[in-house]
Amino acid sequence: MIRNLLKTTLCLLLLLMLKEAAFAQTLKFRVLAFYSTTVESDHVDFAKDAIKFYTKMAVEKGFAFDTTQNWDKLNTENLKNYKIIVWLNDFPHADAQRQAFEKFMENGGGWIGFHVAGYNDQSTHWPWYVNFLGGAVFYNNNWPPLPAKLLVDDNTHPATKRLPKSYIAPINEWYGWKPDPRDNKDVKVLVTLSPSNYPLGKKDIITNGDIPVVWTNTKYKMIYMNMGHGDQVFNSTIQNKMFEDAILWLGR
Ligand code: ZN
Repeated sequence: MIRNLLKTTLCLLLLLMLKEAAFAQTLKFRVLAFYSTTVESDHVDFAKDAIKFYTKMAVEKGFAFDTTQNWDKLNTENLKNYKIIVWLNDFPHADAQRQAFEKFMENGGGWIGFHVAGYNDQSTHWPWYVNFLGGAVFYNNNWPPLPAKLLVDDNTHPATKRLPKSYIAPINEWYGWKPDPRDNKDVKVLVTLSPSNYPLGKKDIITNGDIPVVWTNTKYKMIYMNMGHGDQVFNSTIQNKMFEDAILWLGR
């Protein structure tokens, strides 16, 4: 009796181990998403929605999607496990974390930055990162957050190939940039805020200007997407295709 029970248990254990091994083998790539919960609550809401979205997608598409609030995990040893890093609502503030990120990207790592991930100004003190973003420095924003019409500059890029020529994006706080990343020859702008939205905002109003929303610095495997404010961002099945395709492009 006990012997049979032991046999069954062993068999079950073996089966479980095999299943785990098979799962690990079919994983196409590993992603590590960093976020913070001590930031603006609208940005925390976005991070939570993004984690839900990508966790579900990871199961369907066969990649691993890990998340952490510990930015010290941005170290070279740990990054060896990952092909793609995602910054959902913050960026590294410590020098060691920044250096590990620079090394990761200079050696061909993949990166997706949402919204605040692209925030940089005179207080950020990280020239390498400004260069990495294509020279873009945060300049202005609209308030309150609003939906906006977006123009898709490039329908041939793997990240935007399933987007229409233009669409209405869900409520977001949109950032303007000075300098404009479009002025950098290495930058490929993929999506732009349509000038037809101007004036955009009530308290803070964007009245004019060329405002790239999604772009890639072709010197790196990276994509920046300005979406990331509030709990509506994933409400567009059109826009969600870009969120999916961006990660699959970098994971290829
Ligand atoms: Zn915001």
